[in-house]
Amino acid sequence: MDHLIGSPLAMASREYAEKAWVEYKHVKVLQRPNVTFIQGTVANVDCENKKATISEHKTQKTREESYDFFIGTTGLRRAWPVAPQSLTREEYLVEVGTHCDKVVNSTAPVLVVGGGAVGIEMAAELKYLKPSVHVTLAHSRDKLLSAEPLPDMVKDCACELAEQGGVEVLLNHRLAGHTPVKSADGSDLYEVEFTNGHKMTASEVIMAISRSVPSTSYLPQQALNSEGYVNVRPTMHFPVEIPNADAHFAAGDMINWSGIKRCGGALHQGYMAAVNIHQTMLQQLHGKEPEFLKLSEIPPMIGLAVGESAVSYGTDGMNYGPQVMRLFFEEDLGFRIVWDHLRLSGVPK
Ligand SMILES: Cc1cc2nc3c(=O)[nH]c(=O)nc-3n(C[C@H](O)[C@H](O)[C@H](O)COP(=O)(O)OP(=O)(O)OC[C@H]3O[C@@H](n4cnc5c(N)ncnc54)[C@H](O)[C@@H]3O)c2cc1C
Repeated sequence: MDHLIGSPLAMASREYAEKAWVEYKHVKVLQRPNVTFIQGTVANVDCENKKATISEHKTQKTREESYDFFIGTTGLRRAWPVAPQSLTREEYLVEVGTHCDKVVNSTAPVLVVGGGAVGIEMAAELKYLKPSVHVTLAHSRDKLLSAEPLPDMVKDCACELAEQGGVEVLLNHRLAGHTPVKSADGSDLYEVEFTNGHKMTASEVIMAISRSVPSTSYLPQQALNSEGYVNVRPTMHFPVEIPNADAHFAAGDMINWSGIKRCGGALHQGYMAAVNIHQTMLQQLHGKEPEFLKLSEIPPMIGLAVGESAVSYGTDGMNYGPQVMRLFFEEDLGFRIVWDHLRLSGVPK
């Protein structure tokens, strides 16, 4: 499993990448006789017959698994380099390591295109870890985080923190194209042009602009909204129209719910689905009336790492500074915080 939140740091540090991907077999508390891991892709879920079809990666074989309860937590399909695409730790270390080597050794500016949360974090982490690299962040709109339902003060603060960290921020710069060229000494560069006519030379162009789509193609269409998100009920159950709806749950980025897609929300919803399954079991076994946890509407909130600093926004307003970074992410972009929260105990070396 990959610590996705840490990707912007993994993309700039081979050492951190080593830590950010942990194989299930190395998570001691998960080694139990009643837990089975299958590495593969769920290709179909037959809600009526409660059967999932899984395509196994190693063997390339298809297997069917019957289940009593199903929880979908397959998130969003994100393109490289917003998220690593590798399926194994070895591949991941090569994928991320190759990228790291290119960006940390750059002599010409590294251009990050797209000033959403991922682009800001990628630019700021690289500049923080490797101050000698010139990092430029280009965004098509007049404010960073323009697609997020956040007050302007948060967007402005993110921009100021990035600039204070040494990132050159170009607002109102929409990429028109980039062409590979050779420098005088034979190294590979890009000639970059923006629609406003501005041109620059970059050693790397990192596209942090892909629109992520929910990974839900294996589910019945009736469970999904027009964009492919699962129309869960507040109890995380599938919508009532689905056969055996009370045995099917979804949580995390793949659900149609208010709020900015965040790790904290995903973890909480996974917990809710588990508790609600337990309530159903108690009902089935002992006739106890279930007391289901229900998800409330989620107001816009964010915790954004910007180099050595961070900005947060939520019901308590906006906070920013290195202390916010420590509180939300500690030293490792939240790896230990998430690890401890999940009570996985003993962070692996
Ligand atoms: C670069 C980056 C930085 C981020 N930083 C932050 C942050 O600082 N704070 C924060 O709160 N949030 C952050 N987020 C968002 C956060 O990572 C997500 O909200 C969270 O990971 C959602 O969890 P999830 O379990 O729903 O989905 P994911 O974490 O995406 O997990 C889904 C898993 O399902 C697998 N999968 C997909 N389809 C299938 C299938 N058909 N069969 C089997 N497996 C499948 C995927 O490969 C993936 O491993 C960040 C996201 C990115 C990309």
